[in-house]
Amino acid sequence: MKKSFTTRSLHVRFPKDDPHRALDMPVYESVAFEFNSAEDISANFKGELPAHVYSRSTNPTVEFFELKMKKLTGAHQALAVVSGMTAISNTIMGICKAGDNIISGHHLFAHTYALFDQSLRNYGLESRFCDTTNAEAVEKLIDENTRAIYFETVTNPQLEIADIKKLAEVARKYNLILIADSTLTPPVVFDSKSFGVNIEVMSTTKYVSGGATSFGGVVLDNGNYDWLLNPNLKELHSKFGKDTFIARLRKNYYRNTGGAMSAHTAHYQIMGLDMLELRVERSYNNSMELGSFLRNHRKVKDVNYPGLKDADNYLLAEQQFSGVPGTILTFDLESEEACFAFMNKLKLIRRATNMNDNKSLIIHPWSTIYVEFPEEQRLGMKIFPTTMRLSVGIEAARDLIGDIEQALA
Ligand SMILES: *Cc1c(COP(=O)(O)O)cnc(C)c1O
Repeated sequence: MKKSFTTRSLHVRFPKDDPHRALDMPVYESVAFEFNSAEDISANFKGELPAHVYSRSTNPTVEFFELKMKKLTGAHQALAVVSGMTAISNTIMGICKAGDNIISGHHLFAHTYALFDQSLRNYGLESRFCDTTNAEAVEKLIDENTRAIYFETVTNPQLEIADIKKLAEVARKYNLILIADSTLTPPVVFDSKSFGVNIEVMSTTKYVSGGATSFGGVVLDNGNYDWLLNPNLKELHSKFGKDTFIARLRKNYYRNTGGAMSAHTAHYQIMGLDMLELRVERSYNNSMELGSFLRNHRKVKDVNYPGLKDADNYLLAEQQFSGVPGTILTFDLESEEACFAFMNKLKLIRRATNMNDNKSLIIHPWSTIYVEFPEEQRLGMKIFPTTMRLSVGIEAARDLIGDIEQALA
């Protein structure tokens, strides 16, 4: 039988024995690494002697974090980077060139939307936005310059869930790469490969870091796409075969844009993986308890959490994410003023913008994250003035309920 996520995480072996037999991976905070001879360093640069050279390319602590991500997800290759945004931007740059386009979900993490709609557009790379919960809508936008389909496993704050197998079918039909941002559904609950995802990108700043300890991101290649099918990658295929995509990032975009994760960050992220399953379990149980409590409170107008049995997309959450569609929930009060008054009365739950911290965090997306968008556009994105987003932490459920109860009174 497959061992639990935590058991497996705790017992991944180092790629090389540590000279002191350290039990935990040491933090190799060194910029450069030395060679015994001029011949050796030359052999390394020719690609004949693999070794760490310079930490912007590879580093032993970061390499161990990548190895753990690979072992825990079953991915063919993993690349750790400095942030979620680096994982996303490097991935798209690694797949496309000017004149190409991608089809992307229209409800995206705000900075991903800005990256696609502004930054990458300036370099001739077009993003075509649509509702990825509707596979036919995705298919309609595809043309001969389309290279990938991009979606988020659970959108935030709408909490929409696409049928991933349907997206994978469309991607396969047109030889496109299916890319999932799985930040809200960590590898404890989501096995992206089994749904036909080719590339997974993740902001490990959120769950994996162990609770907002550090910025990080990871790119996972599931090894299930034939890189000969992508005109920008096929030349590298003769040299790198199955490793083509990660090789292109390592030798080009990742290295040349300076996206390296630091050894200290990798240390936090390694510890974060060991505690991930426990934390997700606790936050999920809290989310379920808070969800039912809020649903039954007379002052609460609406509660959205796809983990609740009567949610519209509960079935997709069950099938794709083992019933654990992240631990973010949203709820509505009668007005924006009521939301502000409620938030100001909270004594325990913090007013902050992050997600999947160990602490519970609350925000009013309408007046913060999305405030720069005109009102009509916000409504079009299903952002409403009456909605608050709660990132459920690992406190005791009774303490969180107590805080919410007194603030609603
Ligand atoms: C936070 C987040 C990102 C960006 O990650 P950073 O680590 O902050 O760069 C991308 N996608 C999703 C879904 C996120 O929640």
